[in-house]
Amino acid sequence: MNFTVAIDGPAAAGKGTISKAVATHFGLAHLDTGLLYRAVGRRTLEGIDPVLASKSLTAKELAQGDLRTAEIAQAASKVAVIPEVRAALVDFQRSFARRDGGAVLDGRDIGTVICPDADVKLFVTASPEVRAERRYLELVGNGADVTRAQVLADVRERDARDMQRSEAPLKPADGAILLDTSDLSIDEALSRAILVVKRELDLKS
Ligand code: C5P
Repeated sequence: MNFTVAIDGPAAAGKGTISKAVATHFGLAHLDTGLLYRAVGRRTLEGIDPVLASKSLTAKELAQGDLRTAEIAQAASKVAVIPEVRAALVDFQRSFARRDGGAVLDGRDIGTVICPDADVKLFVTASPEVRAERRYLELVGNGADVTRAQVLADVRERDARDMQRSEAPLKPADGAILLDTSDLSIDEALSRAILVVKRELDLKS
């Protein structure tokens, strides 16, 4: 069975948590597409050309555990504006989406560009302040030395870059269901997402 769930939204809106949980709940494969851009961003910090890096990404680079730093997130959003980088990553994402048994992909352009025909499109969002607070707690929990103000500035800068780029800007896809998690607990957000996916799966089976 082919069944694709596209989950997009800005940084720290909760889409990673929701995507993983939806995939586990329905037994679907999961791809966090931000990791692709982070891995390319990391290589550019090492002085490698971003287009070259995007064309030669390996599974091993994606599996490296230290891609979730604030520095790599900024580098990722800078390489993500380059059309050749985005183009180099399309085929991998589309073939993952088509895999037997179904898949959940999360990112910024899954419903708009990568899988415009996805069975379910969700746009998960929250206010910049709520997202920055979540990201701040996560970074501090991992031992990072950051302030709330720095994290909020980072979130705003990345939002602006992601939403204003000309290639695949971050925006809700046509037909996407909006899920604002600002005032929702993780459990509430999750059960809403699961309900939406279940409805479509039931229709298909
Ligand atoms: O989701 P995550 O925060 O890991 O993504 C890092 C950056 O990668 C984003 O800020 C965005 O610029 C870029 N990205 C993208 N398209 C995707 C996934 C991530 O442009 N599908």
